Amino acid sequence: MKPAPFAYARPRTVLETAGLLAKHTGAARLLAGGQSLVPLLARRLACPVLLVDINRIAGLDAIEVLPDQIRMGALVRQQQALCSEVIRREVAGLAEALAWVANPVIRQRGTVIGNLIANTPGAELTAVALALGARFVLRCAAGEQILAAEELIGPGRSVPAQAMVTHVLWPRRPAQAGFFEVARRDGHAPVVAALVTRTARDCRVALSGLTRTALVCPTMARLIGEGYPRVPSREALAAALTVDLTQTVHTDGACGAQYRLQVAPAVSWRAAQRMSLSRATA
Ligand SMILES: Cc1cc2nc3c(=O)[nH]c(=O)nc-3n(C[C@H](O)[C@H](O)[C@H](O)COP(=O)(O)OP(=O)(O)OC[C@H]3O[C@@H](n4cnc5c(N)ncnc54)[C@H](O)[C@@H]3O)c2cc1C
Repeated sequence: MKPAPFAYARPRTVLETAGLLAKHTGAARLLAGGQSLVPLLARRLACPVLLVDINRIAGLDAIEVLPDQIRMGALVRQQQALCSEVIRREVAGLAEALAWVANPVIRQRGTVIGNLIANTPGAELTAVALALGARFVLRCAAGEQILAAEELIGPGRSVPAQAMVTHVLWPRRPAQAGFFEVARRDGHAPVVAALVTRTARDCRVALSGLTRTALVCPTMARLIGEGYPRVPSREALAAALTVDLTQTVHTDGACGAQYRLQVAPAVSWRAAQRMSLSRATA
């Protein structure tokens, strides 16, 4: 199948992009790495009147270190973030999760922001964004707005049609981190994925795949943090998970809720073990 015909624009600035989105509200779509959008166009599951290619906008491919946060532009590719020393040091858990996303060819083009706002249930990075408290900078013709990850990620949530996400802001949090997932096939979205990060002050755990939106698990985190460096048993993690489980367990074509529930404590145990064996980044 071929895409339906569309007009194509290649703006040079964020302002120009915001102007185009305002003029074609609802009928324009932004193109970043194209790894999610192009297959949708090809199958006519997306039929925009105008495709706005943001790849020529200068300055959006930078990872900047600010006093309290890391500012990542909309054109930072997944592989670039995975290999970044700054990300490994300051946003513990992101690089570990990125290593499980798709494969190197997809990651060379796919952007971190495109991945996050594609809002795919179960995607690895949604757990990272929710656990670490990422925020998104949105720009539209009327001005700039900052939204928390919870406001953009999850069923029924999306970036307003007239807005572009220019940056994602990651709190600086040097920590130990471990990530693990079970997927039906290598490079595919996880059945269940777990992120565990720990500093001297706190421990955080989030799961992707188990529920429709990534699940932040404070009880599991407390258990792992208090026991550190010993990793709690799978049984203890399963009991903690029942306390944290505030959403319905997800069933889809890949597998049912019962299997996901069974595998989640084992995946969390593996992620915690990786965290325990990792070196702190500060
Ligand atoms: C074979 C294959 C395997 C994959 N495996 C995985 C996997 O295991 N885990 C996983 O998480 N993902 C996976 N993906 C998805 C991949 O990570 C994509 O790169 C990513 O989801 C989209 O990023 P992109 O930059 O290519 O965005 P695009 O495809 O260009 O855009 C995606 C969507 O976001 C919008 N958009 C993009 N940038 C902006 C912006 N700055 N502001 C507002 N809207 C914007 C677009 O309009 C579009 O709607 C896979 C993809 C493929 C093809």
